[in-house]
Amino acid sequence: MSKKGNIGVTSDNIFPVIKKFLYSDHEIFLRELISNAVDATQKLKTLASVGEAKGELGDTRVRVLIDKQKKTLTVQDHGIGMTAEEVDKYINQIAFSGAEEFVNKYKDNAQAIIGHFGLGFYSAFMVADKVEIFSLSYQDDAKAVHWSCDGSPEYTMEETIKAERGTDIVLHINEEYTQYLEDSTVEGLLTKYCKFLPVEIAFGMKKEWKDGKQVETGEENIINDINPAWTRKPADLTEEDYKKFYHQLYPHQMDEPLFHIHLNVDYPFNLTGILYFPRIKNNIDIQRNKIQLYCNQVFVTDEVENIVPQYLTLLHGVIDSPDIPLNVSRSYLQSDNNVKKISSHITKKVADKLAEIFKNDREDFEKKWDDIKLFIQYGMLSDEKFYDRAVGFALLKNLDSKYFTFEEYKEHVKEAQTDKNGDLIILYAQDADASYAYIQRAKEKGYDVLLMDGELDVHAMSQFEQKSYGDGSDDKKQMIRFVRVDSDVIENIIQKEDKAKVELTENEENALRYSFETLLPKTDKTRYDVSLEAVSADALPVFLTQNEFMRRMKEMSVHQQGMSFYGNMPDQYNLVINTANDKVKALLEEITTACSEQVNPIVEQLAAKQAEEKALQEAQKGKKEADLTQEEKDAVTNITKELAALKQQLKEQYGAYAASSDKLHQLIDIAMLAAGQLKGEALAKFVNRSVELL
Ligand code: ADP
Repeated sequence: MSKKGNIGVTSDNIFPVIKKFLYSDHEIFLRELISNAVDATQKLKTLASVGEAKGELGDTRVRVLIDKQKKTLTVQDHGIGMTAEEVDKYINQIAFSGAEEFVNKYKDNAQAIIGHFGLGFYSAFMVADKVEIFSLSYQDDAKAVHWSCDGSPEYTMEETIKAERGTDIVLHINEEYTQYLEDSTVEGLLTKYCKFLPVEIAFGMKKEWKDGKQVETGEENIINDINPAWTRKPADLTEEDYKKFYHQLYPHQMDEPLFHIHLNVDYPFNLTGILYFPRIKNNIDIQRNKIQLYCNQVFVTDEVENIVPQYLTLLHGVIDSPDIPLNVSRSYLQSDNNVKKISSHITKKVADKLAEIFKNDREDFEKKWDDIKLFIQYGMLSDEKFYDRAVGFALLKNLDSKYFTFEEYKEHVKEAQTDKNGDLIILYAQDADASYAYIQRAKEKGYDVLLMDGELDVHAMSQFEQKSYGDGSDDKKQMIRFVRVDSDVIENIIQKEDKAKVELTENEENALRYSFETLLPKTDKTRYDVSLEAVSADALPVFLTQNEFMRRMKEMSVHQQGMSFYGNMPDQYNLVINTANDKVKALLEEITTACSEQVNPIVEQLAAKQAEEKALQEAQKGKKEADLTQEEKDAVTNITKELAALKQQLKEQYGAYAASSDKLHQLIDIAMLAAGQLKGEALAKFVNRSVELL
């Protein structure tokens, strides 16, 4: 038998296409050839098990051999082999129609081409000028066959002599791809793609150190573990086995995983795998140890973004599914129905497993919480379904390191922390040291304070607020607000009774307001406003507050796109003057007495002008803008100007007094200090002044 012929491709020459469009992924040729070798070996084992293949199976290892002189790379198996007819059928007639049309359509999508055609074997031509097949079928009286093709559609086929059953695929490596004749490159690829194949893959000999040199041992170097943990039954595996496998997957990872999930599904799709929860320390860990995707133990990719939800990519481990299309593009994966089902199934499994650990061993779960918190919060924020499952085991930690679920916590603080409007106020601190004084005051009132110092805590609390606010249909639902414990005095954060009114005259209010206003620092990054409130006699005389909403928006803008508007806003603080405090009352007395001589005439003028303004407003009442004469309009403008000028004079008077008042400086500095904002020169001045005042 000797035969020449044309490979059955309707396109004139498929090889340039293969070479050109598969360029970026050319290394997968090795995966394809070895997969074929493994398939052939497993088929033989199956036939032997049902008694169809006779005789001893003998050596069934697949070997990868390199001959540097001949510039060949050979993939050798001892599987079922092929008869001449089979080579003709499976190799020569790449049975597809409309190749040209298809190639044109998908020429930008190399992966789709391979996937569609099952060009597995032909991917050898990406790196080889010539490919030869030497094969001997397992069938009785089979004749060995030699096939050869130099990359044109022409091939030759003839009978040959081959002692051993199975197939050798010999690649004459192209000059551009001599890296595939290097041991280290090939071993690297084998480790990447074949680490867990179900048939032993041998490459060279094992080496060992002897007398300071590496020498070959008599033992073959086996690349793979043919029974990786995920293919075994969970019942047969110990905790140690799971850990060992983790390190097999990630040899450079030093840390132990926190826990694992063994996936095992056979309906409506096939999926096995093991996922690990790592201790997430930094971004580099996340990027290096990705989830690996396998298809029947053949490594496919570690780019699983389209297969599992993004937050799950923080996990480590393997997923193996014959139902995930091997060689297709990413956009295709995303729309694939199986892939979608797999994704939601994995989400469910992960949530179930966490719920189970939480239920069965809460203590252990709490110990690990700080390490898995980021992952779970990320999941809750990005996937509603996951939120619904996770809300039952996601934990909140208070300053005494006690853990609560959201429901438990609401119950825990409900009695004490419901305000006069029926809202439940949840207090938290981001920095327990910095907010120490505020935390103490809250505790004195019998309130509890959470520690919310995690990266996603601000987002998580906003989500809790939104979710618990509900749709209004359930009247038992309570408005819940998270408020940072130092954002205001505790009496204001959790208001138990109506606020007392500030009982001051306008002039008294001006005296306090203007005096403090002039002394506040003026910067672009921070804005301070002054307000007067009759908080309580025992609260500090003067203190800073910060609006919870604005602060949180600013913090959230760091992680969220489209929120830079908030990010660019200055920090806003409110300086509250507590008019119920005796020191403030005394201070007001001092200011008004000291300034009366200069201020009283201005105040009188101001009162007169205000009366004039009022009269004017009365006179113009009911008239439309258009009906007013120019004279009348001017009168209004003038009076507004005059009033502003008088107020400016007042400000200046009080400002002049404030500038020379140690007491006012001291009060503002104390408020700043309590809020952790007194720094640099201001702090030094405060220290000096305090010494002087002693
Ligand atoms: P696929 O593996 O997707 O079917 P290939 O082009 O890689 O496509 O292979 C085509 C066919 O050739 C295989 O299905 C198999 O029947 C046969 N074949 C390829 N390699 C071998 C081998 N090493 N031993 C036996 N048969 C093989």
